[in-house]
Amino acid sequence: MKNYNLFINNEWVKSYKEEEDKVINPATEETIATIQKGTKEDARAAIDAARTAFDVGEWPKLPPASRAEFILKLAKILEESLLKYGEIELQNTGKPVKQVVDYDVAYTLDNLKFFAGASRVLDGVATKEYVPDGTSMIRREPVGVVAAITPWNYPLMMVGWRAIPALASGNTVVVKPASYTPLSTLELAEAIRKVGLPKGVFNVVTGSGSVVGEELAKSDKVDMVAFTGSNEVGKKISKVASESVKRLSLELGGKAPFIVFDDADIEAATEGAIIGAFINNGQDCSAATRIYVQGGIFERFKNLLIEKIKKIRVGNPTDPKTDLGPLISRDQLTRVKQYVEIGKKEGEVLYEGENKEFNSGFFIKPILISTENNKARIVQEEIFGPVPVILKFSTYEEVIEKANDVTYGLGSSVWTKNVRLAMMAARDLRFGTVWVNDHAPIPSEMPWSPMKKSGYGASTSRYSLEEFTTLKHVYVDLTGQVRKGWYYQIYGDRP
Ligand code: NAD
Repeated sequence: MKNYNLFINNEWVKSYKEEEDKVINPATEETIATIQKGTKEDARAAIDAARTAFDVGEWPKLPPASRAEFILKLAKILEESLLKYGEIELQNTGKPVKQVVDYDVAYTLDNLKFFAGASRVLDGVATKEYVPDGTSMIRREPVGVVAAITPWNYPLMMVGWRAIPALASGNTVVVKPASYTPLSTLELAEAIRKVGLPKGVFNVVTGSGSVVGEELAKSDKVDMVAFTGSNEVGKKISKVASESVKRLSLELGGKAPFIVFDDADIEAATEGAIIGAFINNGQDCSAATRIYVQGGIFERFKNLLIEKIKKIRVGNPTDPKTDLGPLISRDQLTRVKQYVEIGKKEGEVLYEGENKEFNSGFFIKPILISTENNKARIVQEEIFGPVPVILKFSTYEEVIEKANDVTYGLGSSVWTKNVRLAMMAARDLRFGTVWVNDHAPIPSEMPWSPMKKSGYGASTSRYSLEEFTTLKHVYVDLTGQVRKGWYYQIYGDRP
């Protein structure tokens, strides 16, 4: 069992009060590590380190290629240690081995490589004489000290999305990982120390959100908060951060619609629904939680989907054959079970796997619920478990209205062979991503960008790098005159 300290100024240090928290494996409920229970003082120490590294350090002034070099070195370490990071993520999150290695870590690696390269080609508008006697140009500057506050469902990937683009564009960073899943972030900090990032550029403070997270959001010395997490906490952060007028990027919850038209390939759509609804055990902001199926194929689709759900293998995440591991915590298990009870009142349970063989761990088997009520809580609220809801629809207009009728606006998908229908849905769905005949891919090059109450900003793509920069206009006089032509406006006569 490993005992982790805080990572501040490139050193591993104990927290101010030297108190510890346990980190457990959700599959076995065993303690796998201890972390420091960070305090406000620790958050302030990390902020000061990042502030100094930004204000007087070399990092923000380095050529983009030099910063990219550091990130590529980090990527190399990750690439050489895919299995190690996968194992850490598996132990800490309970995700199956095939997911952590082939997806979570491999995708984070791709994110790192992308951000390293793309940070070298950030552009602005042309340099030009927009008024006749002066040349204007744009400088794209880093924002400053960024607090990256991350959730537990994709721990390593979320550092990749929130801290790495901030670093690549010249900011310094304090990361506050989720308390359930801090281990891959702490391991990444050790890799960062090894690649020789200047001290104070990357810091990690573990501890509770209401103490460490809130201090980061509140601090006058932090210029930006990049937050990925729930709407509830996002709102708290917005409120606290507004006092010190800082930039915010908020990636919040989701409730993705998965729309299947009569002409869709049912085999493909049911395969997609399995992936979409059950990826990461439904603990995914883009999970296909609302499956809308058109009347003509509803019964066939439903029966085939149930057949496929029955084949999902829930169990020990270290087994390569396991499809779903446990949920992240007992609290999450209780919450999901409560939603299942709510769902039994609001609709009908079409399939529920039995859970009795699990003696430890926060396991739950997939459940499919149907309802006709688009306003039902199970249709409107984020459950974050393997509990999709299936609903029947008749017309295009009806399904678009129902799909849009949620507060969230992250991911959505549409399944059809009709290009016109697909393009109309891509136009009409109020979600930051619309997939056609698939559900979930987010290439590093494309923006993962929320709409509505799912927040604002972009987590991937060059637009994410832009989020972490601010624009500076530089104007250079070309006249060389002591008294320019327009100065008469303040004193003297009109020429
Ligand atoms: P959460 O909001 O409970 O916690 C997220 C982070 O905020 C954690 O590090 C937590 O410690 C911290 N925090 C808690 N209270 C805080 C406070 N008062 N001030 C500052 N920080 C505080 O979210 P979670 O349960 O860890 O993650 C699940 C949520 O994340 C879901 O809603 C999911 O949809 C969302 N999510 C969104 C995206 C996206 O890209 N939009 C991606 C992944 C997860």
